[in-house]
Amino acid sequence: MTEDDYTEFDCDLCGSADAAEITVARRYTNDQPIHVCRNCGFVYVRRRRSAERIAAAWTHEIYGDGYTARIPAVKARQIYVAETADVEIGLADKTLCDFGGGEGQFLDIVRDPDYGAIPFAVEPSPENCRAMAERGIECFCGNIEAYQASGEKPGRGFDIVTIMWTIENCQSCRTMMDAAYDALADGGHLVIATGSRILVPFKKPLQYYLSTNPADTHAFRFSANSLKGLFAVSGFEVTYVNRYLDTDYLVVIGRKAGHVANPQWDKDDHLAVIDFFERWDRETQGHYRDA
Ligand SMILES: [Zn+2]
Repeated sequence: MTEDDYTEFDCDLCGSADAAEITVARRYTNDQPIHVCRNCGFVYVRRRRSAERIAAAWTHEIYGDGYTARIPAVKARQIYVAETADVEIGLADKTLCDFGGGEGQFLDIVRDPDYGAIPFAVEPSPENCRAMAERGIECFCGNIEAYQASGEKPGRGFDIVTIMWTIENCQSCRTMMDAAYDALADGGHLVIATGSRILVPFKKPLQYYLSTNPADTHAFRFSANSLKGLFAVSGFEVTYVNRYLDTDYLVVIGRKAGHVANPQWDKDDHLAVIDFFERWDRETQGHYRDA
């Protein structure tokens, strides 16, 4: 696997090539660099392999055999998102497409009569798709890029698309947003949830947040501002942000509103982002190095 081809990316949000390295990250990433955009404060990995190669790394090298989402921590966060989406936009009788449906555990939750959504999954694993189909959940079996290119999405007009703990793990977060935009009906809602966020009080030891996995398998590190920015540049109007400061999750909901010429969002100060990581490094080294 030494002959991988890499491409150098500019900031996915604002397009600027002007980025500063977060130097303390190398201690935890097996010396791989992570950058922050000097213009908008977005944290991203500049050198990335192809979308197919990154997906294969997740399937074969990181998850490997035997991975399951059927554990308390994952089920808890899926119920949190289902409850939030139900309160904010309503799930009953809505068509809901989950990008990266996995084993379908979230779709089982939202199609339960308590919520009453009509589920659909885009999922690359044939085993997962087979298992969902046996339970009556319709799937597109392939990655987001294949789904976007398939021609199956026009006319689907989903009421809701969910992207849960997935937006960080693709090669292009903009491609995933475009796929969500095209899959949604006009006025439909996109729900993005992640536990991986910066500029918040909660910090696990930095070696658990960063990792020695190939850096491009986790190419984006969102704050509330940069996630709202991703909605803004992708044709969505943000309608809801959860209480992320004292919750383990960051959940943002946006309405498909149409692309605008000069999308605006609150930028992060790149020096504050670097300071955040430097403080996090000091706390980790001082208290959690051996955790
Ligand atoms: Zn930027």
